[in-house]
Amino acid sequence: PVFLKSITIQGFKSFADKVKLELGQGLSVVVGPNGSGKSNVADAIRWVLGEQSAKNLRGSKMEDVIFSGSSVRRPVGMAEVSLFFDNSTGIFPLEYQEVIITRRVYRDGEGQYFINRSSCRLKDIHELFMDTGAGKEGFSIIGQGRVEEILNLRSEERRTLIEEASGITKYRMRKREALKR
Ligand code: ATP
Ligand code: MG
Repeated sequence: PVFLKSITIQGFKSFADKVKLELGQGLSVVVGPNGSGKSNVADAIRWVLGEQSAKNLRGSKMEDVIFSGSSVRRPVGMAEVSLFFDNSTGIFPLEYQEVIITRRVYRDGEGQYFINRSSCRLKDIHELFMDTGAGKEGFSIIGQGRVEEILNLRSEERRTLIEEASGITKYRMRKREALKR
């Protein structure tokens, strides 16, 4: 399975200053009072993995993910989040021991994605995560209400989830692309 080792968050939602969250092997739990930013951490992960819907990030427009200031801090102009994944097992088809996925967005809406600090397309990130089960649409992030939603899915939709979990999505996508030509 994919191992997320650490996360750096800067200028994203309530995280004005750069913070690094280290996740150990096994189970990690985020605790804190209401409004302290726990769900913002989950939003940050979803965002880096390509979430395009501001609503899914509990905002009304994408700019809402950028720190908007507080009584003691001025707003910032850019949000940047990086996810550091272990790749010692080669789960990602890249020649790196560690895979770093970064997303950045500015107030004018300009945004960038990076894999190991090299600029890339969102599509490259999707392909990297396809079938690892850790993609945005994968089963690794289960939002509030999602369990009930999955139980209520139509059978074809539930099948799509199972296909991603079992690792055959990439072949289905390739077949679709091949048939287009
Ligand atoms: P709960 O226990 O109630 O679920 P939580 O720890 O999950 O709380 P979050 O929802 O992660 O809390 O954080 C909410 C806080 O994040 C609010 O105080 C909100 O003002 C702040 N916040 C969200 N977006 C921004 C932003 N763009 N700039 C500054 N602060 C923000
Ligand atoms: Mg919350």
